[in-house]
Amino acid sequence: MANIDKFLRYVKIDTQSDDTTGTTPSTEKQKDLSRLLVKELKELGLEDAYMDEYGIVYAHLKGEGDKIGLNAHVDTALEVTGKNVNPQIHHYDGKDIKLNDQYTLSTKQFPILDRFVGCDLVTTDGTTLLGADDKAGIAIIMSVLEYLHNHPEVKHHNLSIAFTVDEEIGEGPKHFSLEKMDADYAFTVDGALIDCVDFENFDAQGFEMTIQGVSVHPGEGKGKLINAILVLNDFINNMPKNDTPFEAGYDDGYWHINDVSGSSDKVTISMILRDFCREKLEKRDEIIKNNIKRLLEKYPGISIEYSFKEQYENMKKYVEKNPKPLEVAQEAIRKNGLEPKSTKIRGGTDGATFSKMGLVTPNLGTGSYNHHGRFEFLVIQEYEKMIQIVLDIVKL
Ligand SMILES: [Zn+2]
Repeated sequence: MANIDKFLRYVKIDTQSDDTTGTTPSTEKQKDLSRLLVKELKELGLEDAYMDEYGIVYAHLKGEGDKIGLNAHVDTALEVTGKNVNPQIHHYDGKDIKLNDQYTLSTKQFPILDRFVGCDLVTTDGTTLLGADDKAGIAIIMSVLEYLHNHPEVKHHNLSIAFTVDEEIGEGPKHFSLEKMDADYAFTVDGALIDCVDFENFDAQGFEMTIQGVSVHPGEGKGKLINAILVLNDFINNMPKNDTPFEAGYDDGYWHINDVSGSSDKVTISMILRDFCREKLEKRDEIIKNNIKRLLEKYPGISIEYSFKEQYENMKKYVEKNPKPLEVAQEAIRKNGLEPKSTKIRGGTDGATFSKMGLVTPNLGTGSYNHHGRFEFLVIQEYEKMIQIVLDIVKL
């Protein structure tokens, strides 16, 4: 049970990030776990382990052959508190699991549970998230390192470890150093299903627009007053139909309005645009630009300012150029009796940005599910198997 003890220890340390502080790390408490990891890494013989000023941990273990990077993030999601996590272990017999008086983990709501009858699950007590995202990833990497420490006869590749901060607020790669990491290719251990190696994610942009209308006294408005809210309404009505998250299927992108604010004089809208390929995303930009052009012609006197912001990129093209990590992971998954799969990540990953920076980094599973909420759980048998899979990735 030693491997699961690591996980149970890490989840009790509150490391929730915060998207309002503007600092790195966004919360000092992330360093509590980073510091502990440095200490444990040193005990496992990774003597160069250290935490930089941003709370990011780097460490290296000498071996032979490729320099393989392993990454997980110390922070937890923002949706539910990560304070006072009180993990519960259940032998799952297929019946609903009562987390507390208010919340029940049921197959009706989460049919994936059906796969895990007969397994042991770690759940929350219903009052917090579990933080398996991504402390399961950290504990898997640490368990692999512990195994190698206890089995010096096992030959392995050179390993480069990085535990990053602020992944949940999209800032994991912000101060990440490829030089300090020093790897040929890497893996984020930050997914769910253990037979998956994921290497496709969205191409993502943000879009902001401010419409300045024409204000005059409404009583004198005839032929003069142009209400910015109504212009925005016209803009929205002319966006493509059936193309929002509500309609979007597994392979589809979308446009989504995050926020609208303002008055009849001036309104601001912020949106996100998502697609699995660059050309499709660029087509969305064209549609928006044409929509704006149309408004400017239709409403003389208004002004519009807008900008597109690159958020993250689909890592697929980088993995296709350097498929070695994908092949290595697939082989390790097969070796453990599973048929490797890949799913499309309908979001971004730190690995996607690392790939863009030059370090190809597909994502591996952890055997934990329902991330970011109180229904999060970890399947101990899958977690143990994932440790084996990662071991097989790094072994010679
Ligand atoms: Zn994560």
